[in-house]
Amino acid sequence: MEAFMFRTILFLAGLGVLLSAVGCGTSATQTPREAALAKLSPEDRILAESQGYCAVTSEPLGEMGPPLKLILNDKPIWICCSGCEKKAKSNPAKTVAHAEELTAKVAAKSTPKGAL
Ligand SMILES: [Zn+2]
Repeated sequence: MEAFMFRTILFLAGLGVLLSAVGCGTSATQTPREAALAKLSPEDRILAESQGYCAVTSEPLGEMGPPLKLILNDKPIWICCSGCEKKAKSNPAKTVAHAEELTAKVAAKSTPKGAL
């Protein structure tokens, strides 16, 4: 009986080591979104993260690859992909207003969920 217990404990300990090793692996690896944002310059990354979401689609920036920066009405605006560029430029005032709304929302969240 004691041998059985010992084996069970060994098995569980082994499983624990295995699980924590897997956990370590995943936390050390960048998410695709982080990897996309890491391709930007540090200054751009801060700007993109402060906006957080595409000014056109409101999708999280970085999910479609590195986000794109546009200058609309002299303001840096972030969009998720080149497909959004035409839409963003078709109504710059609206795009800037939406980007500012998103930035305010990201700033207001103490622990942004989904945002970086
Ligand atoms: Zn897009």
